[in-house]
Amino acid sequence: MFKKILIANRGEIALRVIRAAREMGIATVAVHSTADADAMHVRMADESVCIGPPSSTQSYLSFPAIISACEITGAEAIHPGYGFLSENAQFVQIVEDHGLTFIGPTAEHIRVMGDKITAKDTMKALGVPCVPGSDGGVATLEDAKAIGEEFGYPVIIKATAGGGGRGMKVAQSAADMESAFMTARAEGKAAFGNDEVYIEKYLTTPRHIEIQVFGDGKGRAVHLGERDCSLQRRHQKVFEEAPGPAISAEERAAIGKVCADAVANINYTGAGTIEFLYENGEFYFIEMNTRLQVEHPVTEAIFGVDLVREQILVAAGKDLSFQQEDLAINGHAIEVRLNAEKLPNFSPSPGRITQYHAPGGLGVRMDSALYDGYVIPPYYDSLIGKLIVHGRDRPEALARLNRALGELIIDGIDTTVPLFHALLAEQDIHTGQYNIHWLEHWLEQYNG
Ligand code: ADP
Repeated sequence: MFKKILIANRGEIALRVIRAAREMGIATVAVHSTADADAMHVRMADESVCIGPPSSTQSYLSFPAIISACEITGAEAIHPGYGFLSENAQFVQIVEDHGLTFIGPTAEHIRVMGDKITAKDTMKALGVPCVPGSDGGVATLEDAKAIGEEFGYPVIIKATAGGGGRGMKVAQSAADMESAFMTARAEGKAAFGNDEVYIEKYLTTPRHIEIQVFGDGKGRAVHLGERDCSLQRRHQKVFEEAPGPAISAEERAAIGKVCADAVANINYTGAGTIEFLYENGEFYFIEMNTRLQVEHPVTEAIFGVDLVREQILVAAGKDLSFQQEDLAINGHAIEVRLNAEKLPNFSPSPGRITQYHAPGGLGVRMDSALYDGYVIPPYYDSLIGKLIVHGRDRPEALARLNRALGELIIDGIDTTVPLFHALLAEQDIHTGQYNIHWLEHWLEQYNG
């Protein structure tokens, strides 16, 4: 087992990894920019190294700075968290070239899944159901219009290199196609340096259902059921739950097996998430994320396993600590993402935290790097915490969420907490009747 690992990330996810490592008796190294010198991950790790100025391209994304930090401290492995370098195949290659271990999949798996067209082709070949659409990339506007006619509008044009909700445009009709096609290409080029796009049928009322998978790199894999992440704003998740309110045990077992078999087949290593849209009882693959997800705690809650621990075990060449038959769902879990943002526009709200009190009690987990007096820097993601609740069933989890939100105090900045108070007053949230468009529609009325 590793003696020391470096965490190439910040915020709550850096703490999450430090906690797992500490329970395993592994020493931790935090890295930080000058803007994060007082951050909680720096305080909590055994050692820390300043790797550059505030700009993440010169710090959290700098290959040489992070590799040097490993060499200086003697860390043997790197956990990337999510975001930053977690899905950067080139970085993984460089880590391996330096005789270090990347806690995650191989560079090759990241490369295959990081290109959405290649990912879809690969999954299709492995028997995973996909959204109907173009066969690979679409090069010209004429081809795009022909595909629109063939599959019927609306369609969605997606940048093959896209991510984080960027590089996607919906064409409602042939008249929309030119601007949607050109915009998706331009966004792909600007944000990811790749203007290749493909086209899918745009599903009008799907849920976002994702399957957590885990491969041991020795040809075996398991699934840990689904998360329903349909409550989204601008294609970004804000509220996630497991199990999915619309998914039956039979559906879970069937799609779970398809996913576990697919990743076993490609000899995948570590945690992964296979994302689907789910409509009228059918699953349609959209993409695979080759990393730990922000919303992994809801899965941990219902299965009682530590996914970061398993990532570290597998990266060290050990077996997973459980097999498929050991996994049984216990109750229901919900996560809400707390962002430093001002409603109704969700504009960034960095600044000093004058008072912070985390909720507690049975079935409540608060993953956050906040503390009294902490100053949230303006340079990074606005996620400042995740509140995760677990109950024996969905109504109990919802009641617990309401109770825990009531205990939470974050003063000094604006947060998205009022959004969740308002959502908990909605009947549809209690019945679980929502799809990927529900929140946007609701926000129009709420703000209107
Ligand atoms: P990203 O990599 O940017 O997260 P995804 O391919 O995972 O992009 O899609 C993100 C979200 O966009 C989905 O959860 C869903 O809300 C919406 N979406 C993607 N593809 C489709 C589609 N074919 N039909 C309807 N909505 C879609």
